[in-house]
Amino acid sequence: MTAHKLHGGIDAGGTTFKCGLADRTGALIETRRIPVSTPDETISVCLDWVMAAAANATLKSFGIASFGPIDVDPQSESYGTITGSAKPDWSGTNLRARFSETLGLPVTVDTDVNGALLAEMRKGAARGCASAAYVTVGTGIGAGLYANGGFLGRPSHPEFGHIALRRHRDDDTFESVCPFHPDCLEGLASARAIRARAGDPEALAPDHPVWDIAADYLAQAARALTLTFRPERIIFGGGLLLAPHLIARIRAAFDKQMGGYLEHAPSSRLIATPGLGDDAGLIGAILLGQSG
Ligand code: ZN
Repeated sequence: MTAHKLHGGIDAGGTTFKCGLADRTGALIETRRIPVSTPDETISVCLDWVMAAAANATLKSFGIASFGPIDVDPQSESYGTITGSAKPDWSGTNLRARFSETLGLPVTVDTDVNGALLAEMRKGAARGCASAAYVTVGTGIGAGLYANGGFLGRPSHPEFGHIALRRHRDDDTFESVCPFHPDCLEGLASARAIRARAGDPEALAPDHPVWDIAADYLAQAARALTLTFRPERIIFGGGLLLAPHLIARIRAAFDKQMGGYLEHAPSSRLIATPGLGDDAGLIGAILLGQSG
């Protein structure tokens, strides 16, 4: 590798950290997936990889798009620190400080969903939109929201996965998988909740009744977003959306729930799947670093 300028980033997920280096246009040059273990070990392996991969280049910026809850306020003393009890081993770990000290660069930190949203707005399914939401539906559910020129929820970040839902009529006895809420989006519609009802989502037939339940709940989420801040695009990503039939069911349930109230973009345009697929978080992390 010649001595050129690179931009680095990490999509820090709960089970895997995806590290990458890109050129100044954001095109990925090298990537590496690192399984999550202890904070010290995971961060050391990531740093070793980044420093080796960028050994003959100049690293110009670095961004981290992380699982949360995390302090995303640049004015805060604990900016970049994982907080809360979602992953107890990691609580109190300051990702920003560890990477910044070793790399000798300022490091920008935001949530994984804000990273994915930024990438989709610059290069993916929400390109050209002035406002958008990115909802990830995996083991948990989170959302990044963007309007009026910035991410919403500052100086913190939304915890949209825990909004309350109306129960589907065929789902009144299922016990929420969220330890805090008997009725929240994550507790009822995450991949973990679908698995608890019906087994591995990837092995479920498209006509399994659980899909209508999932679509109803995710449509309620889209309805809440639309009625709250009128985003031009709502992107649903994450593992559960690998089921190709799900997005059309969400759109149909959304149209039914809206009841014809409000003129809005056709749901086929309003509600979308990611344009960047699995790379959105990593590309977003690198873009965060460049914009920091
Ligand atoms: Zn909850």
